[in-house]
Order: sequence, then structure tokens, then C-alpha cells
Amino acid sequence: MVNSSILGFPRMGVNRDLKKATEAYWAGKISQAELLSEAKRLRLEHWGIQKKAGVDIIPSNDFALYDQVLTHIQDFGAVPDRYSKSNLDPIDEYFAMGRGHQKDGVDVPSLEMVKWFDSNYHYVKPTLQDNQTFKLNPNPKAVVEFLEAKEAGIITRPVLVGPVSFLALGKPDRGQTVDPIDLLDKLVPIYEELLAKLKAAGAETVQIDEPVLVFDLPAKTKAAFKPTYEKFASLGDKIPKLVFTTYFGDIVHNIDAVPTDIYAVHIDLVRNPEQLETVIGALGPKTILSAGVVDGRNIWKTNLKRAIEIVETAIQKLGKDRVIVATSSSLLHTPHTLASEKNLDPEIADWFSFAVEKASEVAVIAKAVTEGPAAVREQLEANAKSMQSRASSTRTNDPKVKERQSKITPDMYNRKSEFPIRIAQQQKSLGLPLFPTTTIGSFPQTKEIRIQRNKFTKGEITAQEYEKFIEKEIQDVVKIQEELDLDVFVHGEPERNDMVQYFGERLNGYAFTTHAWVQSYGSRCVRPPIVVGDISRPAPMTVKESKYAVSISKKPMKGMLTGPITCLRWSFPRDDVHQSVQAEQLALALRDEVVDLEAAGVFVIQVDEPALREGLPLRAGKEREAYIDWAVKSFRLSVSGVKDSTQIHSHFCYSEFQDFFHAIAALDADVLSIENSKSDAKLLKVFVDEAYPRHIGPGVYDIHSPRVPSEQEIKDRIEEMLQYLKPEQLWIDPDCGLKTRQWAETKAALTNMVNAAKFYRQKY
Ligand code: GLN
Ligand code: ZN
Repeated sequence: MVNSSILGFPRMGVNRDLKKATEAYWAGKISQAELLSEAKRLRLEHWGIQKKAGVDIIPSNDFALYDQVLTHIQDFGAVPDRYSKSNLDPIDEYFAMGRGHQKDGVDVPSLEMVKWFDSNYHYVKPTLQDNQTFKLNPNPKAVVEFLEAKEAGIITRPVLVGPVSFLALGKPDRGQTVDPIDLLDKLVPIYEELLAKLKAAGAETVQIDEPVLVFDLPAKTKAAFKPTYEKFASLGDKIPKLVFTTYFGDIVHNIDAVPTDIYAVHIDLVRNPEQLETVIGALGPKTILSAGVVDGRNIWKTNLKRAIEIVETAIQKLGKDRVIVATSSSLLHTPHTLASEKNLDPEIADWFSFAVEKASEVAVIAKAVTEGPAAVREQLEANAKSMQSRASSTRTNDPKVKERQSKITPDMYNRKSEFPIRIAQQQKSLGLPLFPTTTIGSFPQTKEIRIQRNKFTKGEITAQEYEKFIEKEIQDVVKIQEELDLDVFVHGEPERNDMVQYFGERLNGYAFTTHAWVQSYGSRCVRPPIVVGDISRPAPMTVKESKYAVSISKKPMKGMLTGPITCLRWSFPRDDVHQSVQAEQLALALRDEVVDLEAAGVFVIQVDEPALREGLPLRAGKEREAYIDWAVKSFRLSVSGVKDSTQIHSHFCYSEFQDFFHAIAALDADVLSIENSKSDAKLLKVFVDEAYPRHIGPGVYDIHSPRVPSEQEIKDRIEEMLQYLKPEQLWIDPDCGLKTRQWAETKAALTNMVNAAKFYRQKY
């Protein structure tokens, strides 16, 4: 019999219940006991869903209140002193590492949070010391949750981040020099202890995630796999059987690092079906293959026929007993259920499958290969019909869009003049001081904003009333920015539910959902729109609000757009045409918007591309070069229609430029704002080394945390930055948009920021 399995289930719940509970807890509105009981309710519900769908192998410990890597940091006793010394209760210590803590005399910023591979999920980085030790929590979460499921009658497969990946995804703490992978000998015994505890609790198998195996690894990291897993193998049945799990790429280039004396190996066959044969050839004589054939990263209905063919290929080589049908990765990256979508056009809805539906898909595939296709004939027929309908639908093809794409000329990728000429004109028309201050676009999205937007969506207030409300919000933020004495204003984005969804709703070719939320980090969720067909802009998308903002403000007002790559990456893209084609369509739509903004009197325009880097193929080589080429082109296509005197900004939410610098430079943006407050200012050295000529605003404080940075802290940051950047190059801004913050902390932080900028303005 072929078993079906799921690598992880979304945690938020059908109505983002976990988000609501954690935020209520942070706000002091519910107790810790209430939070934990809600979390338990969600876990039980999600196990129940999977069981009901007929999934044989159901995960546990895939749940986390904030982030699964953070759970490991705490359970392994890898909590940096600055948190542990405060003697917070464990849950508060956990949240302190995730989001910072500033209460009752304790004041600690959060640990660094970065993108989980090439997804839009973010994990908390293990942050390690030179003299790091580890100690297992006496009640590790993996054990607690396994027992919880067991009590509910479900024997789950606990999920752990594997030791090599845990360390390889970590970093030395500030001022430390340890290479995390050197800590492996100290960490492996902790895993042995944890695995033994899981075994004692009744776990027969454990999913041990080693996704770093899809990277190009340093030799030392690669060499770490074999001895580590041999050690586990030597423990025999003192520990559960291990499912060595990889995803988001192929492992062929690291195949010699895959353990052979292991119960099972999981690979992602959605991304890289071609790795099947090589991996099968490298499996140990008894090792099971877990075939990831149901996409954990997208929302398209699985082509069951194709998935079954892949699984059958594996069965032919290995036999039924040595194959498991699985999702390609955790379903964390997919929304909860399609059943919540009441407003989707039924034609389109029929093409989708979210987590709950994917659970049924793995079960159907497993049944088809176990009992033969006749056992699931009805499902297979319905599936074939959906596939056919999507391929032939007129909604996917727009000849006008294709025609415009065919007429793109090379000059459309270039600004009229080079940067020195442009900046001189911009200086003249904008008249900004040295160290200009600005923000990244959004201001706090208050409860009132959400209430009014909701009312408008539900038809309880008219478009006119809503417009008036938005104008009032814009007036308020303009006034506040005047009071703060910022130099380049923003309108605050009150009309935007989300930086991508908002555009998706205004473009042809997109479908959007009402409940399809996906966790981005902590309690933050995004609702990616879905690219279903060729994309075009039927009408201006942001001009009305920006024009209004310009009309009431005395300082330059920055227009705010989301760039083509980010629109694409933070949507669920089509899987039937290449992403470069979709990006080019988006770029043309945005190009029209940029030109319209300029015509409306907006002379600073920021085109955010925070997702540019996450789209970078995980491994170096041809595919990566090709991506950089089409991604850079699409950005340039979107912004190059303006005059020299119009200043183009772009924003990136990350500070890892070492391997990506030439792509960023090739964008030719007049001003870049980048995230920097939580990383070493040394990273800015690359701008010096490469003689980067344009303007840069490395974020001076972290906006992911409610903590207010002091003026001195910001000055120190600026001082560090000035070691690398020229004064006339440096802009002063926060790390990212402020929409998730409250007003009180926002005003306090920006006051300190503006004062710090003024201090340096005087000094130079
Ligand atoms: N302009 C957006 C904002 O301020 C940028 C957000 C982002 O880069 N993630 O919210
Ligand atoms: Zn950002």
C-alpha cells in the first residue's frame, strides 16, 4: 500500500484565528492560557481535517506561535543571553526573540528575521555565540504536540528542522566569529536526546527537514551530513525512523551527501521532476522515496494524471512499499481552504486547490496508485475536465497584451540620461537638504482604516464616503509629516489593503480572493492575488490618491507603486506561461502608471521591489543569470518612461547584497532604500567597493518591532554608515513601511530619526 503524507499544514486557521489570538495576547486582551488553548484548538482542528481527507501520515510540530525555527532555538537552549537574562516567562521570551520586547524595564530588539529560501515566509535566524552550548528543554514542543495529537487519537509524524540546516541557516551573533556549522558536535547530542524522547512518547517516524541541501553548499556544510546521519543510524530503534526531507529545489548536485542508511528521503518533484531518477539511483537498498508531487507553494489544482505518472515511475523502480505520496513542501505557503471563497467566479475557482483540497489530492493519488485508477475514477475525470477548461479558457489569453509585448523596443529600458545629469536636475527641482529624511510608504493601518475599508467592501458606505475618509487620512499623515519635519512625504497608503493585492484588484488578468491568507512572518499574513491570465491595466490605479496628496502638501510627495517582480512574486503566478512573460506584462501596466503619476505632478516615484532577491534561483548558474536579466529589464521597463527630473526610488526589504549587487546596481534607480538596521553596516562596503554612484537609504531602525530606537542609537547607525557611504549619497529612513506599527511608537521613532539626521546635517 502506498501512503499519503503532508509535510506541514498552514497554522493560521480558516479565519486567521491564530493571528487574532496572538495579537490579542500581545495587546493584553487575552491571557496566555487563552492563547495556548486557542493554539491547541487549531492544531486539533488541522489534524482532524487531514485525517478526514484520508491522509495517512499527518505532521505534528509543524505548528508554531510565531515561527518554527524560533521554536527550535528555544527548545535547544540557544537563546542569546540578552533574552534569557530578563527572566521572561518562556512564551514571552519566545515572542521577545521574534518581535522584540519593551515592557516593564526589559528592552530587547528582536533577532534577525529573513526569508525562508525563495518563499515569502520569514524565519528567525539562529544567532550563535563563540562559546555556544545547547541544552534540551525538558518539555520540548515536538514531544508535547505529539502527545497532544496522540491523545486525540492521531499518531502523527513530528517535524524537526534538521541539525545541519538549523546551523547552516544560523549566523554568529554580533561581535562573534563562530562558524555555526562548527557547533554540530555540540548540537547532535541534543537531537539524539529529543529523538529518543519522541520515540518514548510513541513516535514511529520523524520528518527531519534538511532543505539546505538544495543550495550550493560550502564543502564543510556538505560534508557534515554523512557523519551526522550515520550517528543517528547507529542509534537503531532507540530513535524513530527518519524521513530526510528536502524541498524547493533539486538535490542532484549534493546527492553524495544524502544518507543511505535512512528510512526515507523526500524530494520536491513539482519544482524538479527531473531529479527523480538520479535520487532513486542513490537511495539506500531499503530507503523509501517520499515523492512530493502536490505543490506546496502554489494554488493550482494538481494535474492528477501527471502526478500519478510520476509516482508510478517511482513505484516501477522501487515497488509500492517503498514509495510515499506527499506534498512537495509544507503547505504553510498555501491558503487554508477554497471553501471560504464565496466570490470567486466558479469557472476560475475550479482551477484552484488550497491546503484542505491538497490534502484530498495526496490521498486520491495514493489511492489511485494503490488500488488502480478505477478506484478514483470520478475524481480523475473531474480533474481532467478542470485541466482542460483552464487550458482552453479565453480568460487566460488576451491578444492585445501579446501584441503590445511584441512591440517593446530597446530604448524603453533606459532613462533619457545618465544618473549625474538626472540627479543634477532632480536636486534643482526638489531642493532637498543633505541627509534627506523619508519613510518607505505606509503609515500605521489603524483599526479605523480597516473598519472603513470593510464597510466600503460590504457596501455599507458609498464610494464617495470612503474617498472622503481616505482623503482625511491623507491629510492627517501629511500634517504629521510636517510636524515631524520629514523631507520627502508619502501619502501613507491608507487605501491599500496590501501592496500587491491592491494592484491585483486593479489589473486585468488577476483573480483575487477574500480569505486566501498565507503567513508571511509572525502574525502577519498576506493574501496573494492570483495571476490567471494575460495582464493589463484598464485604468490608473493610484493617481487619484497621489494627486490629492500632492495638492495638500508643501514638500515633495513620493508616489508609491509595487514593482513588477514583487507583484509577480507575491502573487500566486501562473504555471502555464514563463514568469518572465508575466513580469513583462506587469511592467508595461506599471509603466503607464508611472507616466500618469508624473503627469499628475508626482515627481518622486518609488517602485518597491522587496521581492526581487527572493526570486533569485537558489543556486548559481544559468537559471540565476537569466532571472536577473529579465527581472532587471522588467523594473527598468516600468520606470523608464519619465523625465530626467523625476526621481525614481526603489525599496528592498533585505540587506544581503553580496551576491546580488550587480542586479541592484543595474536597476539604475536614483535612490535605493534597503533594510540595514539589524545587520552589520559593514555590508554597505560593497557599495564602496563597486563605486556605486547613486543615492542610498539604508534603514536606520527596525520596523518589525514596536520598540522605539533612541536618537543616540540612530546616530550611531548613521555614523557607521558614513564609514562606507558619502554624505551626499545618504538618505535617512526606516527599514520598511510602517503599516504594522502603532502611531505612538511611529511618531516617537521618527522624531528620533529626524533629529539624528538634523544632527549630521549640521555637522557636515
Ligand atoms: N511601500 C510599502 C510600504 O511602505 C513597502 C513595503 C515593503 O517593502 N514590504 O508598506
Ligand atoms: Zn520593505
